[in-house]
Amino acid sequence: RIAYVNGRYVPHRTASVHVEDRGYQFSDGVYEVCEVRGGHLVDARRHLDRLERSLSELRIAMPMGRAALMAVLREVVARNGVKNGIVYLQATRGVARRDHAFPAPGTAPSLVVTARRADMAAQERLATVGVHVICVPENRWPRVDIKTVGLLPNVLAKQQAKEAGAREAWFVDAEGHVTEGSSTNAWIVTGDGQIVTRPAESGILKGITRAVVMEAAKALGLVVVERAFTPQEAYAAREAFITAASTLVMPVVEIDGHTIANGQPGSVARELRQRFHDFSEVS
Ligand code: PLP
Repeated sequence: RIAYVNGRYVPHRTASVHVEDRGYQFSDGVYEVCEVRGGHLVDARRHLDRLERSLSELRIAMPMGRAALMAVLREVVARNGVKNGIVYLQATRGVARRDHAFPAPGTAPSLVVTARRADMAAQERLATVGVHVICVPENRWPRVDIKTVGLLPNVLAKQQAKEAGAREAWFVDAEGHVTEGSSTNAWIVTGDGQIVTRPAESGILKGITRAVVMEAAKALGLVVVERAFTPQEAYAAREAFITAASTLVMPVVEIDGHTIANGQPGSVARELRQRFHDFSEVS
């Protein structure tokens, strides 16, 4: 495997960044995960839009122009022979003597890109049976709209889910509403067929998969309502599912030990999963 590290394509096994990289010391950086399908990037334009926004919110410079960045993403995918999988990009404020305040202007941001294959067969098998979710108290900072590499609460929540035999943890805010999963956006389908997901104004990362699924659902004549929902509403929902670039639409069949509907993936989730790529942009 090959990784891109600050201007070089190097063997993945020995690819490394400096010990004084601010990503390493302060989580002072952001990332993106973009799906690769048939060797092509899925919705890369939107992922790069979000990358630019995350960086600008943190006042980190874009490590290179968009066209160059696209070329690096493509090159890493090609050099690794990835047909179906993901490409990962991480940009940090760069390398400088440890000091919380920003380093001197002109300090170059660091850029790392890796790619890996996904076991598509395993993912499809999982989608046919659905996954379990647990709910945990929201304990992240309020700026979860920025896709930072500061993911400690997400790491702990995912581990808690894993130890409970679940695939994902949904954070629940102080008002008792689900915000999102530790690495996915959260959705339910109500008894009258409305597709419900939390508005992007607060408490969530504005998922690219979420945006495409919303567009797909509307194009398929389904009703999408952006509003917050509680775990109790989710237990009683007709369907539940999660979305992310790495798992696409993944049905949820159990939440906190409550079986959702008949315990099988719902028809809305199945249709959205099946039709997702008709509505995503390939480049
Ligand atoms: N929410 C969180 C916290 C995430 O980490 C992710 C993806 O990693 C998502 C939502 C889904 O975003 P996307 O659909 O852009 O992958």
